Amino acid sequence: MSVLVLVEHTEGIIKKKNFEAVQYASQIAKQTGTTATAVVLGSASAAEMESLGEYGAEKVLHIADPRLDELHARAYAKALIAAAEKEGSTVIITLNDINGRAVAPRVAVKLKAGLVAGALSYPDTAEGFLIKKTVFSGKAFAFVNVLSDVKVITLMPNSFQINKGEGKATVEKLDVNFDEKDFGIKVKQVNKVTGEVSLADAELVVSGGRGMKGPENWGLIEDLAKELGAATACSRPVADSHWRPHHEHVGQTGGTIRPNLYIAAGISGAIQHLAGVNGSKIIVVINKDPEAPFFKAANYGVIGDAMEVLPKLTAAVKKYKA
Ligand code: FAD
Repeated sequence: MSVLVLVEHTEGIIKKKNFEAVQYASQIAKQTGTTATAVVLGSASAAEMESLGEYGAEKVLHIADPRLDELHARAYAKALIAAAEKEGSTVIITLNDINGRAVAPRVAVKLKAGLVAGALSYPDTAEGFLIKKTVFSGKAFAFVNVLSDVKVITLMPNSFQINKGEGKATVEKLDVNFDEKDFGIKVKQVNKVTGEVSLADAELVVSGGRGMKGPENWGLIEDLAKELGAATACSRPVADSHWRPHHEHVGQTGGTIRPNLYIAAGISGAIQHLAGVNGSKIIVVINKDPEAPFFKAANYGVIGDAMEVLPKLTAAVKKYKA
């Protein structure tokens, strides 16, 4: 009956956002009088998996098939369903990230489960299973009561503070019979993220839009990011134009981030962009158009040319650090 949570890893390393999902599952398990079980797919070390105990997982089910090192949504869904059957789980959690959004609906359909996509709260179980979630790309909230027996939830990353505790999860192997067709998508090439700070885990992010004019000006974004120890991000047209790699694209169709500080230079603030960043604690907008919609979402705004403002900001940070 345990609460199940899918834990992703990159080359065996479990990233911070997963700890939040495990903690979320563990809290729901406590609420519902059960325990949390993490599901890890592919090649991960025992030590990494055991460490999930520090965030509340009592057990890890490890489905070690190396083909699962890359996302295969169909195989991932099959693995989660097999784990749910083994554990008798009625609550299944993934992150609301690119992988989770691909896997969770498949699991929900197969198990005839209600799906809450983009959960922001723990369930209120007083009268059912009431959860707050994002709607309209983060422009509004909805409260949904999930009445199906099985419930699938995708958790919005950075919704809760992560508290590391003590504990060691026990790791158990689970074998699942996959078909060739579960791996129907062939991964031809994996572009590794080379930035110094991983965007998903970054507390500080400097981001650029089409107002940066071209890739030749990205040094201004990178200089400020370097001084701050921040990750870099961009709007979708920037990634579509190949000025920046796609993994830096944030928004409705890209990554969702909730850093402490998001500095946006030359980005208009379209709703689809805001969907990925409006959970940031402090938003600083640099835009030469005083009517740019992003200013409405900003805590601080600089009306000016990013080409002039960014070097001044970088110099100010440098001076402050000296
Ligand atoms: P623009 O809209 O061209 O804005 C450039 C801004 O830079 C302007 O505000 C301008 O005033 C300012 N500027 C120009 N020069 C300077 C200067 N020298 N100094 C300072 N400011 C300057 N977009 C995303 O970002 N992420 C998504 O995930 C996403 N998903 C989408 C999904 C769908 C289904 C659709 C339809 C669209 C999506 N979009 C997404 C696109 C989105 O609607 C916008 O078109 C996009 O965000 C605009 O990018 P931008 O702000 O960089 O460019």
